[in-house]
Amino acid sequence: MDPKTLNNILVEISEFEDLLLQASQKLEHNTQLTFSLEELQAEYESDAADAARLNQGAEVTLRSLENEITQVAQLLKVKQEMLVGLTDRRQVRAVADEISQLKQRLDNLENDTIQLLDQQDLLKSDAVESQGESRTHGTNCRAKQEAMAADSAQLSQKTKHIQNDMDRLISMLPPTEGRAVIRLREKLEQAVVHHHEGACQGCFHQLPQQQAISVDGGRHIVRCPSCMRFLVHRSWR
Ligand SMILES: [Zn+2]
Repeated sequence: MDPKTLNNILVEISEFEDLLLQASQKLEHNTQLTFSLEELQAEYESDAADAARLNQGAEVTLRSLENEITQVAQLLKVKQEMLVGLTDRRQVRAVADEISQLKQRLDNLENDTIQLLDQQDLLKSDAVESQGESRTHGTNCRAKQEAMAADSAQLSQKTKHIQNDMDRLISMLPPTEGRAVIRLREKLEQAVVHHHEGACQGCFHQLPQQQAISVDGGRHIVRCPSCMRFLVHRSWR
């Protein structure tokens, strides 16, 4: 095979390698994005669960406060009735003391209830808001994931086609070059690269000036002396 034809096949292989690399980077990006979306959704859900728990906790405390208020109020009523029938001054004072303590306790309980009711309004709206956010994000997240899954499936399909085309091209190469390309691809992902201002774009080794000129001429097979990749000029297409 004349070097020019060989070079042209290598140029095509390098184009396919670029496409494969782009596809695999995009696939990797999709996978990472899917993962971070899942993590973010888990955070939203855990926030919503926390808010719901706090709200429920406040409701339980409120109920127990209400029960206590009922009990203290009943006790207060009993003591007040008791006071009416008493004549002994010491007993009157003792019961009056109890009544004033019960009133104080009732006041405290009522204050606590009012405070908690205010808090509960906030907790309740927090819980509702968190749940809404989690649901909205969940819907968005699923839509994005579905789009990415479709994109990834398409990319995988495209990758398969490119790989087939590449295999066909490699089989057209003379056996020595064919084996070299396969080995390089196994080790380094890219077997054929370009140079930029005389530097191999595979390993950034600076090529001797004459070698860089040969690459651009496309009439010789040039391999990087450092990484052994094939060096080709850019496609004119
Ligand atoms: Zn190199």
